[in-house]
Amino acid sequence: MADRAFILGVDLDGVCADHTLAFRQVVADDYGVDVNSLPLERSWGFSEWGMREGDFERLHRIAVMERRMFRDMPVVPGAAEALWRLSDAGIWIRIITHRLYVNWGHEIAISDTARWLDTHRLPYRDLCFLGAKPEVEADMYIDDAPHNIEALRELGNDVIVFDQPYNAGLPGPRATSWAEVEEIVIAAAATHGGVQTSLPGIDAGAHRLDARRSTPVEERQRPSATVHDPAQRLLEDG
Ligand SMILES: [Mg+2]
Repeated sequence: MADRAFILGVDLDGVCADHTLAFRQVVADDYGVDVNSLPLERSWGFSEWGMREGDFERLHRIAVMERRMFRDMPVVPGAAEALWRLSDAGIWIRIITHRLYVNWGHEIAISDTARWLDTHRLPYRDLCFLGAKPEVEADMYIDDAPHNIEALRELGNDVIVFDQPYNAGLPGPRATSWAEVEEIVIAAAATHGGVQTSLPGIDAGAHRLDARRSTPVEERQRPSATVHDPAQRLLEDG
């Protein structure tokens, strides 16, 4: 075994959080157009949405400050479950986000991000808000932004490209789903010094926090307390 955990650097927007979907609604509302008229297959600069000079900054400010996009955006399917399994395998999850790239709204950006991570049950040990610097001393990274991926690779880092229309031109390793991310990371961590795999059939997954939170601590400690777990209740009733 290695003397320290394998660290996975995980980007948020376009990897764990569906930024395109959330931002598209804000842009459509501002332009007064049907949301479906703005294609999801878009380039990094949003040219397919007819965005003009200065629109990105203006609309992103509205998205973050007024529409609270970082609090409410959809999670990418499978992200939480895969991250829990990786975390259970002994992998250190270091969340990295570049959300402070403009000089306003840091309080909302940071607090909404933390709340979103809690809401969607994403496990993490570190949460890094970065400006221009792409590197946070991880053993492997997962990112979608072409400039971040290229900068990280230039510094000699291993980076998985999370498949998006705007990064199609970049060489792999590439993952089109979180199941594929998990596979690549487990293989890399095994080379690094071993991983601790879950027992077959044991996968508490992202819902474990709900299960724990559904029963107050005092009640969990009292054997005669009311049982809130539906599975447990079924056992008792049966
Ligand atoms: Mg990103």
